[in-house]
Amino acid sequence: MRRCIYCGERKELTKFSLEHIFPQSLGGSSLSNLFKTHHVCRYCNSIIGQWVDGSFIRNWFTQNFKASIANVYIDSQGNCILPLSYMGRVKRFETSEQEICEFWLGPCGDSIYHFHDAFDSRYDTFVGGNPINLKKNPGDVYIIAVPTNPFWQKIVFNSFISHFNKARRFICNAPDENNGEWIFSKSSEKEKAIIKILMEARGTDHEVNNLIDPYSHERFLAKIALGLGFNIFGDKYLETDYAQFLRDILWRKKPNNTSELKRFLGYFDPVGESLKVILPWEGAHTFLIMSIGDYFILCMCIYGKAFLNVVISDERSLWSDHKNYSDGQIFLVVPQLSKALNPISLPIYISHKLQELPAKELQELEALKIDPSTLPPYVNE
Ligand SMILES: [Zn+2]
Repeated sequence: MRRCIYCGERKELTKFSLEHIFPQSLGGSSLSNLFKTHHVCRYCNSIIGQWVDGSFIRNWFTQNFKASIANVYIDSQGNCILPLSYMGRVKRFETSEQEICEFWLGPCGDSIYHFHDAFDSRYDTFVGGNPINLKKNPGDVYIIAVPTNPFWQKIVFNSFISHFNKARRFICNAPDENNGEWIFSKSSEKEKAIIKILMEARGTDHEVNNLIDPYSHERFLAKIALGLGFNIFGDKYLETDYAQFLRDILWRKKPNNTSELKRFLGYFDPVGESLKVILPWEGAHTFLIMSIGDYFILCMCIYGKAFLNVVISDERSLWSDHKNYSDGQIFLVVPQLSKALNPISLPIYISHKLQELPAKELQELEALKIDPSTLPPYVNE
């Protein structure tokens, strides 16, 4: 028998599976074993993957932070898939109550319209809707592509295909119908009429609608804190009051009052503002794990943009024999390269960032960044 970190129940060993504490789709599989566990039951793995990880990953902010840093580590030959930006739902293009039109932007600012069946309202705050339904019913997608330069065309179309791999795909501004049959479906009169509407709407206000879940990070943080707390401190961590508090947050459908949320967020202060300058790494997620005063904390910077902090534990006795965290340990992963660094101590990371003492691993990572001025223009002269 084994106790599940997330639900706290004791279950047979066969009921457990590998859990990525930081989700795979955000680059979690490249991180060290500290971010993985076999102490989560299959039930939690599946339900939390769908509702907690899913609502964070498919949050409007997460998707658009991801897209905004896409050019940092772009492949110099153009052999890469880039994320799309999510704009929102465009009701004016929807032809019935049962249809949804979602508006995305491609890597070169390409307009992309995805028409699909309406989902149940639980997925209203998920960009792209219900991923399971979309597998069965992938819908139709139209692109108005910007680039004429082959380097960018390859990136745009590969990213488009990858994102909408099952949908029927149409191009609105194809110079020639026979061009690229492997990418696009042949359009009938019905699709030709939609293409005409979309082309005529270019440059007009699309009046996009967005529903954003402002609390999706709260349960996500509770989950990560529980997972890391267990991996660092072991079974005794799960018995603490604070671990129980995190489990309560994790299983709550909606935060029921703002004061509790504040209490949860209020723990951020010990870290101070300077960390907001030090922690971010362009195009990467950075994680600082540290014992500081009465708290054992995790500070994350997602895609070098969004700060999320959480207390992992407030039981000082737990970390008395974990001195390696008293200076702070930094973990770093670049999802676009599927590359993570070995943990480094916070002082070494700070010295590097302040350009006092360069760290070799960080220098190597910097060398992989692309100078945007060396990339070709989107449109050929
Ligand atoms: Zn469980």
